[in-house]
Amino acid sequence: MAKRETVWVFGDQLNRAIGALATAAPATHRVLLVTAASKIASRPWHPARVALITRAIADFVADLRADGFEVDHQLAPSFRAGVEAHRAAHSPSRIVVTEPNSLSARRLVADLGCDSVRSNQFLCHPDDFQSWASTRKSFRMEDFYRWQRRRLGYLMDGDEPAGGEWNYDEQNRERPPKDGHGRWPTPANAWATTRKAALERLEFFVTRALPMFGPHEDAMLAKNWHLAHSVLSPYLNLGLLLPGEVCDRVEKEFRAGRVPINSAEGFIRQVIGWREYVWNLYWRWMPDYASLNALDADLDLPPLFTGAAQTSMRCVGGVLRDLQTRGWVHHIPRLMVLGNLALIAGVDPQQFTRWMWDSFVDSAEWVMVPNVIGMSLHADGGKMASKPYAAGGAYIDRMSDYCAGCAFDRSKRVGEDACPFTTLYWDFLLRHADRFVKNPRMSTQVRSAQKLRDAKAVRERAREVVARLRLGQL
Ligand code: SF4
Repeated sequence: MAKRETVWVFGDQLNRAIGALATAAPATHRVLLVTAASKIASRPWHPARVALITRAIADFVADLRADGFEVDHQLAPSFRAGVEAHRAAHSPSRIVVTEPNSLSARRLVADLGCDSVRSNQFLCHPDDFQSWASTRKSFRMEDFYRWQRRRLGYLMDGDEPAGGEWNYDEQNRERPPKDGHGRWPTPANAWATTRKAALERLEFFVTRALPMFGPHEDAMLAKNWHLAHSVLSPYLNLGLLLPGEVCDRVEKEFRAGRVPINSAEGFIRQVIGWREYVWNLYWRWMPDYASLNALDADLDLPPLFTGAAQTSMRCVGGVLRDLQTRGWVHHIPRLMVLGNLALIAGVDPQQFTRWMWDSFVDSAEWVMVPNVIGMSLHADGGKMASKPYAAGGAYIDRMSDYCAGCAFDRSKRVGEDACPFTTLYWDFLLRHADRFVKNPRMSTQVRSAQKLRDAKAVRERAREVVARLRLGQL
């Protein structure tokens, strides 16, 4: 029998339509998947993440076999060992992979002498991003997003954006509604691990939650972990869903008049804007980007993040409990509670990146490095985001129901019961005043901080707060 080619599929490429698998056929190709024990043991991953990925790989193997493929699912000590065992057993004429989604996997693929083909897992390939970026001095997300809208045609009426505006964020920052947490339908509690089940989750989202997604997109509620968020990121990041089909489905609901423009645009912005932007910044700036620390933040990861200490901060405790329960919280708890605390307390960016990467079911290096180093911790000095996302207790109080039952007072910046966010926020502005006073988006806040009569007491209280964070006593 003639030697067959092998298509090696990584665990975050679980889709028949992706790259090398799209043109493979049972008569001419074997498929290889490797579950590597060394990868699973390498980090304290969230248990839900390990369960989701290993189950999704096993289910994908079953789906491929049902389609007639011969599949070699190697349960191996490492990826390298799995590929070598496959070669020894099957002597493929060549092993072909779809461009993997991390630098380390691409190095391994080259090292093992495998061929790679261009990936279509994202809507904007790094080569396309390069063509766009090479014509410009800066490449801000908003410009990238509009370029994506135009070239992909989402929510466009001819050359104009549907509804007349490119951005409906102003309508999407409403406070949590007063009538409580029960207004949004709850998605199924366990993670989907097959494409079929992921498509059902997509259907649930677009028909039930999407109409309400926009207005309270940035709100947080202690008793509701999902609000109207899609909760689709794990499936997109494993390849079970593709960004184009998700956006097509959203556009269809909008065009049918069942979804308002601010919800449809807000969601499509997340997918073809932020997600693709972050993906491309990863390839443009790595590997050096991961080690940046522009604000010289050097606090070791406080023990409350890992569960080694409890916290009296109701917002942080609530978000960490939700994260512990299912390995997922939406973008505002990530950015404005966890990330914000790490930013204003001065947590080491590499340690915080690693913790975020370990803790979420939908994480990957390409997601976490730009989002944490650039967006959340401003450790890149502003290459990605023009201002740091620093906020005090007033912001968290406006966007959530956490503060009412908290041991701290969000309006106080000094004193035993001062809100740690409020204290650290003012201290952050004072600490970095020279850097941010000339930033047009920050200068007003910095000047207000410089006028504080109690600035000395704020600095002292901040030192105390950081010391308690370090000891796990906050
Ligand atoms: Fe969080 Fe401060 Fe509000 Fe407490 S008062 S919930 S610590 S923001």
